[in-house]
Amino acid sequence: MADELESAELHTYRERARAWLAANIPPRARLDDGSYEEPDLMAESDPAYIAVARERQAAVFDAGFAGIPFPVEYGGQGLSYDHERVFLEEQAAYDTRSQVFMVSINILGATVVEFGTEEQKKRHVPKILRGEEIWLQFLSEPSGGSDLAGMLTRATRDGDTYVINGQKTWSTGAQRSDFAICPTRTRWDVPKHKGISVFILDLRSPGVDLRPIKQINGGAEFCEEFLTDVVVPASNMLGDENEGWRVARGLLNIEHAWQGRNSGVAEAVGVDDLIALATERGLIGDVGVQRKIVDLHVASHVQSLAAQRITNGMTSGALHHGYGPIVKVGGALNRQRRAELGKSLAGSVAAGWRPGDEDRWSRDLLSSRSATLAGGSNEVLRNNVSEQVLGLPREASPDRELPFNQVPHN
Ligand SMILES: Cc1cc2nc3c(=O)[nH]c(=O)nc-3n(C[C@H](O)[C@H](O)[C@H](O)COP(=O)(O)OP(=O)(O)OC[C@H]3O[C@@H](n4cnc5c(N)ncnc54)[C@H](O)[C@@H]3O)c2cc1C
Repeated sequence: MADELESAELHTYRERARAWLAANIPPRARLDDGSYEEPDLMAESDPAYIAVARERQAAVFDAGFAGIPFPVEYGGQGLSYDHERVFLEEQAAYDTRSQVFMVSINILGATVVEFGTEEQKKRHVPKILRGEEIWLQFLSEPSGGSDLAGMLTRATRDGDTYVINGQKTWSTGAQRSDFAICPTRTRWDVPKHKGISVFILDLRSPGVDLRPIKQINGGAEFCEEFLTDVVVPASNMLGDENEGWRVARGLLNIEHAWQGRNSGVAEAVGVDDLIALATERGLIGDVGVQRKIVDLHVASHVQSLAAQRITNGMTSGALHHGYGPIVKVGGALNRQRRAELGKSLAGSVAAGWRPGDEDRWSRDLLSSRSATLAGGSNEVLRNNVSEQVLGLPREASPDRELPFNQVPHN
């Protein structure tokens, strides 16, 4: 982005990152229209793909570009979010396979830094940053992902361990992961937010049964998990017993802040590929098409700048975490608008789709539907903005103060 406006120090950092990436990581493949080819959706469940991803992440770590804003004592670089943005911008042109570690590092590693014990941080965070451990989140359950505090998965104390039983679902990347952050219910006789404890769960533990879920876009990045008598050491608890809502809420705040930082970079992709598509289809002279492309370009720029501004505000403490969802809501809607425009320009070319086809526009359309659900649905995030930013009355929640064992389930 705006190279000419950044400080000399950041500019030097950018040049160092650019030179290292060019020398050590293969460039991302480009399509005819100049845009980057997206990773094959099935590849991310392929052990060979993940092995190379881990090698590249280790190289990024060893070169001092992993965990840029993480504390130095846990393997990070102790640098600013501006340094992180610069590296993300430069990295976009290279096939680091960083998407494999995105949640693991930026959401879950950061959650361990914020809520973990010293031992948990020292043991796990450097390995997370180096890609030796991949983490995922076990938040959603079949009974519903939006009502996170209403979880039914149970953990029961047994000496210096806990025994976990229940079911999680929609867990991105479970097949390739090593550990999960897993909220559970440890008390049933108190209101739902007051009986939650969060665990670090080793996915190789006996009793963890992972089953991939095939998706409409051809991928199978999700799993559902059946947890049967899974034994977890009490020392794996993240945060305090029955105080896990603080950790779960904190994780979501970290997720929204990361989405803001990442969205500022992702939105800067521009509309060159849509212009190329409209030109190829003979539609570029159509004033209606031009207007849609311009509208999207404006919306993307506004989103990118808003993301940077809100993220900077949250980082400096000028804005509280309630602002994070604004970035997610706007980014998700733009992603869907972009996919819909691409599909309408592609016309009959994108009418059919089979797994393995190169039809990026159909695939984009199908994948984009998840944008307003992943990481919290737009409806629920609008509720957050309504309550936390605008101070509007809280939505009715009849089960909020009831002991959880008196709340009807299913
Ligand atoms: C790409 C992708 C990746 C994901 N990765 C993970 C992951 O790694 N780990 C994980 O745990 N989960 C993951 N999820 C699940 C995601 O968090 C849930 O899909 C999301 O929280 C919504 O939950 P749900 O699907 O159970 O829908 P429900 O909670 O059942 O909601 C159904 C509908 O009702 C609406 N709704 C619910 N409550 C309200 C309300 N109070 N007010 C207004 N509308 C409401 C919702 O907006 C939604 O449209 C992922 C989802 C996607 C799409």
